[in-house]
Amino acid sequence: MKTDLLVVGGGIAGITAAVEAAEVGKDVILIEREHYLGGRVVQLHRYFPKICPPTCGLEINFRRIRQNPKITVLTGAEATKIDGKPGAYTADVNVEPRYVTEACTNCGDCAEACEIEVDDNYNFGLTKAKAIRLANDNPYPNRYFIDSAAVNDPKMKALVDICPPKAIDLDMKAETVSIEAKSVIYTTGWEPYDASKLEGLNYGVLPNVVTNMMFERMTAIAVNNEAKVVRPSDGASVSKIAFVQCAGSRDRSHLPYCSAICCMASLKQTRYIRDQYPDAEIHVFFIDARTPGRWEDFYQNVQDDTKTIIHRGKVAKVDDAGDGNVTVIAENTLTGNLEKITVEMAVLATGMVPSAKTTKPLLDSKQDEFGFIWPGGVIAAGVATGPKDVAGSNQDATAAVARAMQDMVEV
Ligand SMILES: Cc1cc2nc3c(=O)[nH]c(=O)nc-3n(C[C@H](O)[C@H](O)[C@H](O)COP(=O)(O)OP(=O)(O)OC[C@H]3O[C@@H](n4cnc5c(N)ncnc54)[C@H](O)[C@@H]3O)c2cc1C
Repeated sequence: MKTDLLVVGGGIAGITAAVEAAEVGKDVILIEREHYLGGRVVQLHRYFPKICPPTCGLEINFRRIRQNPKITVLTGAEATKIDGKPGAYTADVNVEPRYVTEACTNCGDCAEACEIEVDDNYNFGLTKAKAIRLANDNPYPNRYFIDSAAVNDPKMKALVDICPPKAIDLDMKAETVSIEAKSVIYTTGWEPYDASKLEGLNYGVLPNVVTNMMFERMTAIAVNNEAKVVRPSDGASVSKIAFVQCAGSRDRSHLPYCSAICCMASLKQTRYIRDQYPDAEIHVFFIDARTPGRWEDFYQNVQDDTKTIIHRGKVAKVDDAGDGNVTVIAENTLTGNLEKITVEMAVLATGMVPSAKTTKPLLDSKQDEFGFIWPGGVIAAGVATGPKDVAGSNQDATAAVARAMQDMVEV
């Protein structure tokens, strides 16, 4: 395949880079390692500043992709090699099979009949997933796939005949696609920090200690089922909840940097609770609230809620309080007092770790000590270059396209 631009990573930054380059007439190949586009944003219940479902913003972009023949999207796709220089790159891309062909009409008969369940990484293990499924509520491409962990299960064969358009192909194989591109942009985004490393906060030990990304999924699943968020251990409703800021962030033993969006993410999440539980007591523990620019108003509005109590103090411990409850312990840095608050569940605001920390860019790159990609090597955008929100990721992607256009100039 020949193209002007190869974009690696199909989150909001990669999607923006792809549509913006294509809309000025460039051919683009966008590769994404999952079987769907949208990255972390599709996992959110709502997103600030508008507090709307992420699908409202993504759907517009998916339409722009669908309508633009200049964009080719490869999902389940990861580059294994990229060589060359500006103007002349070559890449080998491994494309994993999804075992469902384009004949799929999305009828859902296969999922209804499917008895095989697999671990559900998309929902952080909160639920089990059908082995054949749509990736999410608004997937791109809008087509089922089979989880590779279950493809050899003997029960899978029965589904082949159930599918009315015969779209299931269990013999589909991985293939390598060779690509020639004039420029490459890396938009590989981030992973949540592993909360089980946070000694004392008891994530993974106490079931009612969850992370901020889990809380996004818990809320989305509940609302989709026309239900309320409940605590994981026993389905109890929430009358008292704590949000623990900087869980591992700004901490030399974990992530020394600030992930920039966690304060706003937690303030947003306090509103998820307030929408569902008008009388719930909400406690937020901050080192300090980082809500720069236009976000300050949002912070002020949350402060106006008399049942949302903001504590200035870094949480040192989350202890078992019996009956599924947990006690959050923090030193209030304004009063010097040790505060102990027992709640039904605690949400840890864990930060963002660049995916490029573990999967290094295949092209010459400059990365800081945390794995974020710095200018001067491969062109990159979005959270791959540093923590930022969706608006910042989009601006970064636009700038990256302007830089990539220079690689496409014929001399
Ligand atoms: C709890 C929480 C709540 C948040 N809420 C909001 C909010 O309300 N509003 C807001 O503006 N921001 C919010 N954010 C921030 C938002 O999630 C990021 O700004 C956004 O995800 C950045 O998009 P991205 O494309 O850079 O990265 P990502 O969303 O991480 O997308 C990167 C994509 O690249 C793919 N990829 C990675 N490596 C490879 C590879 N080697 N090959 C192929 N593909 C690869 C990944 O699978 C992924 O699809 C929140 C963050 C957190 C932690």
